[in-house]
Amino acid sequence: MAKVKKREKKRTVECNDKNCPIHGTLATRGIVLEGVVASDKMDKTVIVQRSRYVKLKKYERYRPVKSRIPAHNPPCINAKMGDKVRIMECRKLSKTVSFVVIEKLS
Ligand SMILES: [Zn+2]
Repeated sequence: MAKVKKREKKRTVECNDKNCPIHGTLATRGIVLEGVVASDKMDKTVIVQRSRYVKLKKYERYRPVKSRIPAHNPPCINAKMGDKVRIMECRKLSKTVSFVVIEKLS
């Protein structure tokens, strides 16, 4: 009996996530934002923090303002804490998540 070698699929990252914007069926639309990952403790979800300064007209000074946005983190992107990422709006994936990480910037 001749031995037949099985052809193995060569993929660097396995991605079976149906909510992945690249390999899955999740459609993205709406606004695109950039931010830094402030927390990666959840499973396939990260918190993206955006910091900016708002001018206080009365005091002629600037005050730091931050917003924290929960975003879905597909296993093929796998953003870690401190990474600069770009997120895009999608349909609601859970009670709080309505954004998905589309690429790492750093
Ligand atoms: Zn993927």
